[in-house]
Amino acid sequence: MPDSDQARARRLLQDVWGYPSFRGLQEPVVEHVAGGGDALVLMPTGAGKSLCFQIPALLRPGLGVVVSPLIALMQDQVAALRELGLRAAFLNSSLDAATARQVQAQARAGELDLLYMAPERLLSESGMRLLEQCRLALFAIDEAHCVSQWGHDFRPEYGQLEILRERWPEVPRVALTATADIPTRKEIAQRLLLDDARSFVSSFDRPNIRYRVVEKRDGRAQLAQFIRDEHEGDCGVVYALSRSSVEEVAGLLAAQGMKALPYHAGLDSGMRARHLRRFLDEDGVVMVATIAFGMGIDKPDVRFVAHLDMPRSIEGYFQETGRAGRDGLPAQAWMAYGLADVVQQRRLIELGEADEAHKRLSTAKLDAMLALAEAADCRRVRLLAYFGEASEPCGNCDNCLQPPEMVDATEAAQKALSTVYRCRQASGTSFAATHVIDVLRGKSGDKVQRFGHDRLSTFGIGADWSEQDWRVLLRQLVAQHLLEVDSLHYNVLRLTEGSREVLRGERRVALRRQAPAAARKRRGAGGSAPQPAVALRDDDAILFEQLRAWRAEAARDHGVPAYVVFPDATLRAIAVARPRDLDELRSISGVGDKKRDTYGPALVRLIAGQAGA
Ligand code: ADP
Ligand code: ZN
Repeated sequence: MPDSDQARARRLLQDVWGYPSFRGLQEPVVEHVAGGGDALVLMPTGAGKSLCFQIPALLRPGLGVVVSPLIALMQDQVAALRELGLRAAFLNSSLDAATARQVQAQARAGELDLLYMAPERLLSESGMRLLEQCRLALFAIDEAHCVSQWGHDFRPEYGQLEILRERWPEVPRVALTATADIPTRKEIAQRLLLDDARSFVSSFDRPNIRYRVVEKRDGRAQLAQFIRDEHEGDCGVVYALSRSSVEEVAGLLAAQGMKALPYHAGLDSGMRARHLRRFLDEDGVVMVATIAFGMGIDKPDVRFVAHLDMPRSIEGYFQETGRAGRDGLPAQAWMAYGLADVVQQRRLIELGEADEAHKRLSTAKLDAMLALAEAADCRRVRLLAYFGEASEPCGNCDNCLQPPEMVDATEAAQKALSTVYRCRQASGTSFAATHVIDVLRGKSGDKVQRFGHDRLSTFGIGADWSEQDWRVLLRQLVAQHLLEVDSLHYNVLRLTEGSREVLRGERRVALRRQAPAAARKRRGAGGSAPQPAVALRDDDAILFEQLRAWRAEAARDHGVPAYVVFPDATLRAIAVARPRDLDELRSISGVGDKKRDTYGPALVRLIAGQAGA
């Protein structure tokens, strides 16, 4: 891009968005696309992909067309651009005919900078005709992984977007996604005919997200406590596997006074839309959801993502947890994990209708996820390694903050495995974990007596361990395929080839032990939510709360979500800097010309009022 373009790009960034500088690969992408090149942009959520097409669309003459699958969110995306003073509109099935005609007329007249379109709308006869009549600056294909037939966001229309190159070979195209795995990247380039596109791949690290996995005992109670202790009043997302569990957990949290709402595909669309609106518009809503919720949610101030059930792959885990902390402020990814998760996920694969090859692939993906959940070393290093990125221990995950102890548990494993073996030998059938643990601990309940298992030589040999200890051990054995759960047959435990190696003493078993709670407290890590690098002083915190209340009202007046007025990061900066006039306000990151003019006077008054109080 000529120097003058580079200067213009920086000026737009500062004047329109109010940001002092580009981040990461934004500037090279802008340069490449503004110069007419195609691009494939792979950056994690929150990295700032939108600017990568919005600024080139402004730099190039004509209309920037943005293809997005997210009809429910287009309105917010466009509202955010209008708040910045840009000329943006959207076309999708939610518009009435008169408004759609008006938008089309504006596009033809060259009165729009950016037009967001649903793919089916763009591909329709009238959509194509409209674009033929416009001068086009570029095409941006957002959420480009929707072309992938294997992915869970597959949209058939995305596969037809190759027509854009055939019809408009001279218009640059930029495809963007936060999906990190390499097969999906290849598929995007292939299906969208982006063979000549330059790839821009940033690091997938999300340093502000703290990863934590806790032993699941009573998952729901642990979740409620986690939110109460560390995220009171914060916005968050809780993922659960089933619709009924979503409903129950939302009810339970609401009963404890939290603003918790359920979201899953079984709710009627009106209620889903209402809950989504509240989540986006209000502060501090906790959305309890199945994975049907989340793609493209660009709410920047989600402070935590919690998993009550383990996702089936690292890709899923990374995508879901990635919805936390887009604003770059500290956020947490919390997951409760137990034996039942392993059993449940293995069962889902077994019961699935996929062919053998696909089941093997799913099992491999699940095993990688299990290894992450069981890991005793840095979780971030493992996550990034899964996506092909090397890194150093991060200092911001549970294992870095309180390294778990690794103890040799070969003998205990042998006790457990031989109990599994002897129960089967004595009764000709296999038993589930609860029964095996009862025998180990010498608990002679009805079932143990009925089968005469109180007479086994292993009866009571594990009395010195609690039931939970044994569960943790069994879980780790199952996760490592040293023991198998027959999830189609009452979850009974069966020995594997690996179990025999352990029993014969050919293979040792290391057990991950979380440091005892007291030691954890002393070290002062993990027991409290991560704090921003600069914590707010008391009076700044008071001002910040006042600013949030002001923002809620301003958002209502303008009919936009609160974060569209200003994200938390900007409000925090305002609370600390306490600008006295519009110029000082304008110098804060996230305050561009238009927002200074719209909100500045009220903000300066509010701050002056607090200073005098
Ligand atoms: P993505 O689409 O990659 O998830 P977004 O485009 O939504 O990310 O950007 C995430 C957040 O970061 C937004 O609030 C955005 O305004 C902010 N942001 C983007 N680029 C910059 C920048 N250069 N400086 C400061 N903030 C930025
Ligand atoms: Zn770490």
